Amino acid sequence: MIKISNLHKYFGDNQVLKGIDESIARGEVVSVIGPSGSGKSTFLRCINLLEQPTQGEIVIDGQSITAPGACIDKLRQKVGMVFQNFNLFPHKTVQQNITLAPVKLGLMSQAEADSEAMRLLEQVGLSDKASAYPASLSGGQKQRVAIARALAMKPELMLFDEPTSALDPEMVGDVLDVMKQLAQAGMTMVIVTHEMGFAKDVSDRVIFMDGGYVVESNVPEQLFGQPQEPRTQAFLSKVL
Ligand code: ADP
Ligand code: MG
Repeated sequence: MIKISNLHKYFGDNQVLKGIDESIARGEVVSVIGPSGSGKSTFLRCINLLEQPTQGEIVIDGQSITAPGACIDKLRQKVGMVFQNFNLFPHKTVQQNITLAPVKLGLMSQAEADSEAMRLLEQVGLSDKASAYPASLSGGQKQRVAIARALAMKPELMLFDEPTSALDPEMVGDVLDVMKQLAQAGMTMVIVTHEMGFAKDVSDRVIFMDGGYVVESNVPEQLFGQPQEPRTQAFLSKVL
């Protein structure tokens, strides 16, 4: 579904991605782990062009998104993103947060979007929060709204950038449960995470990044159980 070839990204002189080659299959759940500053967020942000790659090609569903003239709006509809800090609209209710984009883009009528929002809120366990404002929600609830909002666009691919890192520990489980359900329902997902237990349980594959490279990529049993590269071994010995 996604083919990434020779992806490079510079910020000024700072080379952050140094030639990444990865393919992600439809329905695959891939976790990305690695030390802070290794380029994980930049990698994810290049996949939906929140960052413009300096060099290389990204093909999604057979269409190059890095070719000149590629349609970014279409891409953004296909690719949902969930951030560490939720990024909800503070002056909109939960339901409005979810319905805003699909209605604005003409994908649904307001009535359709409203009923879809209620279905999604049920899916993430927040049916009773439709009329609430983000400020009245806990971090875990905000993040589940953010996931529902991304799903309202009916994406084919979901990107998660440390979705539980800003949460109090008791909130983490509810968010991971929602993500696990999504994975089991067949959603294609790329998840930057520090939750090693979750990465082990839910991923089809785990990618270890360091210094702008993919150092190692393998099924979780292998990557966690028998890491091949010294840098992977060193990282895992610190976090496990
Ligand atoms: P990670 O998510 O693995 O912690 P990032 O992709 O956020 O790593 O960052 C990798 C490097 O890129 C860091 O050195 C960071 O300072 C730099 N960087 C990230 N985003 C920007 C930006 N928008 N402008 C300049 N430098 C950036
Ligand atoms: Mg990051």
